[in-house]
Amino acid sequence: MHMPKDFTIQRQQLVDLLQQNGISDERVLQAIAAVPREMFIDSSFQPMAYANQALPLVLGQTISQPLMVAIMTQALQLSGREKVLEIGTGSGYQTFILARLCQHVYSVERYPQLSDQADARLDQLGCANVSLLIGDGSIGWVDHAPYDRILVTAAAPHVPAQLLEQLDMDGFLVVPVGDQAQQELQVIQRTHSGMQIHSLGRCVFVPLIGEDAWR
Ligand code: SAM
Repeated sequence: MHMPKDFTIQRQQLVDLLQQNGISDERVLQAIAAVPREMFIDSSFQPMAYANQALPLVLGQTISQPLMVAIMTQALQLSGREKVLEIGTGSGYQTFILARLCQHVYSVERYPQLSDQADARLDQLGCANVSLLIGDGSIGWVDHAPYDRILVTAAAPHVPAQLLEQLDMDGFLVVPVGDQAQQELQVIQRTHSGMQIHSLGRCVFVPLIGEDAWR
């Protein structure tokens, strides 16, 4: 009889690796320990589901490296009460992690096929606090603004102006900014005295394609 593979041990080993690499937010670690990454990728890649690497999705896109997912999620400093905008739904893996850590996630994806697949997976997992939009996330999702947190999971040539406008006071925007070969992961906080920016180091993401991004 064919039994579904049990990934529990591999998932815990991944969490140990994230801790060794500086992830200390217990809620983030618990979310990663609970989310079945294998459900967000094609079955042919399932043996690699818990390797610390990005993996291919359809249409030349990728599910991000788990350590990068953890770094970005930790940088958002989620308490559970936030309204979060995510740009780049992709597989829905990061979306589901965010959904476990905040009040509601609004997530925008430019490819209908990816958004539809993510929708089906999130449904299957009983995730009820996510709203998905097919569209250009470089201009945000104004209908639900302002957001307490915004996460961009694709590489932007500059910080999209409308994302800054849709960020609430004291909110954080996490975004990879740079050229298409390499970016800097920026954490931007909106304060009464302006935007404060700090860098979490280098990263590599697929490009953010849109009106206020790469054309
Ligand atoms: N967070 C995703 C996950 O966990 O699978 C991975 C996201 S992947 C690195 C980046 C995604 O951003 C791709 O799915 C890509 O199609 C999407 N994307 C690129 N430009 C976009 C735009 N302007 N608006 C919305 N999504 C965009």
